[in-house]
Amino acid sequence: MTQNTSLRSLEHHDAFIERHIGPNDAEIAQMLRVVGHDSLESFTDAIVPGSIRSAEALALPEAISEVEALAKIRGIAKRNQVFRSFIGQGYAGTHTPNVILRNILENPAWYTAYTPYQAEISQGRMEALINFQTMCADLTGMEIANASLLDEGTAAAEAMTLAKRSARSKSNVFFVSNAVHPQTVEVLRTRAEPIGIELVFGDESEAATTESFGVLLQYPDTYGRFGADYQAISDAVHARQGLVCVAVDLLALTLIAAPGEWGADIVVGNTQRFGVPYGFGGPHAAFMACRDAYKRSMPGRLIGVSVDVEGNNAYRLTLQTREQHIRREKATSNICTAQVLLAVMASMYAVYHGPEGLVRIARRTHRLAAILAGVLRKAGVTVGDQFFDTLHVTGIDAGALHHRAQQAHINLRVIDNGSLGIALDETTTREDIAALAGLFGAEITDIDALDTATADALPQGLLRTSRFLTHPVFNTHHSEHELLRYMRSLADKDLAMDRTMIPLGSCTMKLNATAEMLPITWPEFANIHPLAPAAQTQGYKELIDGLEAMLVEVTGYDNVSLQPNSGAQGEYAGLLAIRAYHRARGEAQRDICLIPESAHGTNPASAQLCGMKVVVTKCDKDGNVDVEDIRAQAEKYSDRLAAIMMTYPSTHGVFEEDVVEICEIVHKHGGQVYTDGANMNALVGLAKPGKWGSDVSHLNLHKTFCIPHGGGGPGVGPCAVKSHLAPYLPRALGGDGVRTQGVGEGAAVSAATFGSASILPISWMYITLMGREGLRKASQVAMLNANYVARRLAPHYPTLYTGRNNLVAHECILDLRPLEKATGVSAEDVAKRLIDFGFHAPTLSFPVAGTLMVEPTESESMHELDRFCDAMIQIREEIRAIEDGKLDRGDNPLKHAPHTAAQVSATEWTHAYPRELAAFPLPVLRQQKYWPPVARVDNVYGDKNVFCSCVPINEFAGEIEAFSEPMVS
Ligand SMILES: *Cc1c(COP(=O)(O)O)cnc(C)c1O
Repeated sequence: MTQNTSLRSLEHHDAFIERHIGPNDAEIAQMLRVVGHDSLESFTDAIVPGSIRSAEALALPEAISEVEALAKIRGIAKRNQVFRSFIGQGYAGTHTPNVILRNILENPAWYTAYTPYQAEISQGRMEALINFQTMCADLTGMEIANASLLDEGTAAAEAMTLAKRSARSKSNVFFVSNAVHPQTVEVLRTRAEPIGIELVFGDESEAATTESFGVLLQYPDTYGRFGADYQAISDAVHARQGLVCVAVDLLALTLIAAPGEWGADIVVGNTQRFGVPYGFGGPHAAFMACRDAYKRSMPGRLIGVSVDVEGNNAYRLTLQTREQHIRREKATSNICTAQVLLAVMASMYAVYHGPEGLVRIARRTHRLAAILAGVLRKAGVTVGDQFFDTLHVTGIDAGALHHRAQQAHINLRVIDNGSLGIALDETTTREDIAALAGLFGAEITDIDALDTATADALPQGLLRTSRFLTHPVFNTHHSEHELLRYMRSLADKDLAMDRTMIPLGSCTMKLNATAEMLPITWPEFANIHPLAPAAQTQGYKELIDGLEAMLVEVTGYDNVSLQPNSGAQGEYAGLLAIRAYHRARGEAQRDICLIPESAHGTNPASAQLCGMKVVVTKCDKDGNVDVEDIRAQAEKYSDRLAAIMMTYPSTHGVFEEDVVEICEIVHKHGGQVYTDGANMNALVGLAKPGKWGSDVSHLNLHKTFCIPHGGGGPGVGPCAVKSHLAPYLPRALGGDGVRTQGVGEGAAVSAATFGSASILPISWMYITLMGREGLRKASQVAMLNANYVARRLAPHYPTLYTGRNNLVAHECILDLRPLEKATGVSAEDVAKRLIDFGFHAPTLSFPVAGTLMVEPTESESMHELDRFCDAMIQIREEIRAIEDGKLDRGDNPLKHAPHTAAQVSATEWTHAYPRELAAFPLPVLRQQKYWPPVARVDNVYGDKNVFCSCVPINEFAGEIEAFSEPMVS
């Protein structure tokens, strides 16, 4: 450092930009030379077509430091007020066990992992998810459960469509109880109409008498009651060939009969109260459990037990090569990103407390509710007589009580002028009960005496007698040390970004900086009920308004809704807006959606869910969308054209030149342009879809804007639109959870107004920290890193598609097909061999079968890129050895990868290549080695023998008889 270095330049080196972006300026210069450019600007000019380039810099503030940004968001957080909340309505207060808070939610080993498509490096999180599935199936009394859905509202909608597919009844009616949570009803309304399902509402008892293909009950109901003869309803619905769907509260199910015991076919719910904070609405893990008969048409991901080549038990995503329910034109659901991290938390909560602990929590909550009910009754207040934790208080002046409660910093649920809901939970204290009683003018002197004097208020005919969570995993790790080590042992089995780059094309696995993550667990963000009065959520309002404005600026659109809680939900919201727009203009016949064949599977799936017909358009030999085909299809369907959905830059990793012309063609025929914004990481600061002619996009905040993938969720998929579509964006739900507009306007796509609100600080922090220059540089370096990898690997693996000047955008597709033809080594073999080198594989066989798509992102340093390239080159050498006959075609390290420690250290070694090559193909691996816990997992076995809950320790029954080695967890 020279003596007269300026203050400004000294401070510059403290900038977050330099921490977020992997390569430093010297490395950037070196890499630019490799790709044949002398500046980032000339390099960018050579890639991004001039027709779409932004002339001006982003109108965002300059970068600030971590210290400054944290102080700023601290100020915003302080504007939220944390009241004691007894609102309930599907959300409950909970104590996140601190050991789970720190070692799961705040632990990059868990939150930076990717969806477990690569089974061998995902055994830890899949075990946590199989615990989750077991927990949900056990508590609901169902045979099988999935590994999370987005929220209870969308889970109920998925139950409705699963029932439609599975019921024998030909009715088009779905009956919904009047006592289902209002926000669930809103999502059902949205989802039913476009696919022609008629919703009929009524009292629970009418479920038995209404002709329908399915019914939805809430158990206990939204007012906390147990009103109906559930068994009789089930029998009646079944007699009409319909199915019974039930939305449940898992904690209540520890004390009352499981719906599976009284005839339910599909059970959904939220696991939020198992240790996941309110977060102003999300993220939390919902779930679906159902009868075994429906497992093959169940939405969402399902973890199953298979075997590896050694015959050991091994987990894998079952019944899906990629996502069995997102089968493009045959899709039945568009769920891709779900809520894995939150599902892991909820499952650990059950592991930590065990069945007895959960019963204790449930019983304590119930006792407090019963005592409060008794006191209120004595004070002359009318309270329902059967409940678990929620009191339905009637015949009172709700307005006056609400006012009094607010003065005491207490939130109650105002149902109408004359009734209230009071929901208790694990966090409720004796003082809370006294304060609540006080609101009604009642006084509590001796709560223990009241306890003795007050009977339970559970429905006597519905008490739970069956056991649950009997598996040892739920009965072992109850001390903090045990749980700590269990979680650590699982994390150690997995490869996440805390150990290696994850170069997954289309997934944008960039840095999730610690400073971005810190605010999400602050109580002012975490402990806000989604229906808290607006006066208490001013901080969230500022955060959300601010983030919306930033995203408007970045995308060039006019309005943004943050409600969708995944990319696919954003697609759905955007297409619904297009649909509503056409209808409002009297063009309801517009139902054709053009989608290029290279599109992500969620695109056609979302279009189907909107009732649109998908017409697939071609790509040319260079990987570009075929403009002539688009023109021809647009002309052919001119008066029916609703939209085109295209990803830009394309999933083939190139900036197509014709995007502006395509927008013009589609508009000329009256259609709207949907740009899938999953690839915004190549665009931010350089070009804006809203300015080149696109009408709507979703963004993936869990890709471009740094929300971690969490092993497959959470996510946020904001929907951004031009102003003509703004009236049709998802809108705020009122304080009661009911939408504030009329039907057709602003349909709700998530249960909570702002979806996964509590993780929005992450993206807010990212944009604030990077500022206008940092964001632009990130896009440039993302492209530089991709081109550097493509160039270094070019002599070894050809890049399938390039754009202008022989450059790719922010990702490159390596074509393995010629090598497979010559040597029999497949892209999958290379993906598995990378594990032996300690790397997570790139995206396998998407969007082109037999290829690997590499997206390094800007956060990877040149050192890490070189490490990856060295591994890929070494693998190419192994393939060459097969070509040259030096390695056997069948018995080589690629075909048998990955290699476990047990295999390479076994007494017997029968392979035609040395152990050393198997385990340590590069010398650096001797210093640091990742050992996969299982060998290559058998894909077929797991799908033929579907088994989706914890493996019994001592006994094997039925389908899993084949396993001889017990899996000790
Ligand atoms: C990731 C992705 C999606 C889906 O996003 P989710 O959040 O997983 O629903 C859609 N399109 C493309 C191109 C993607 O890469």
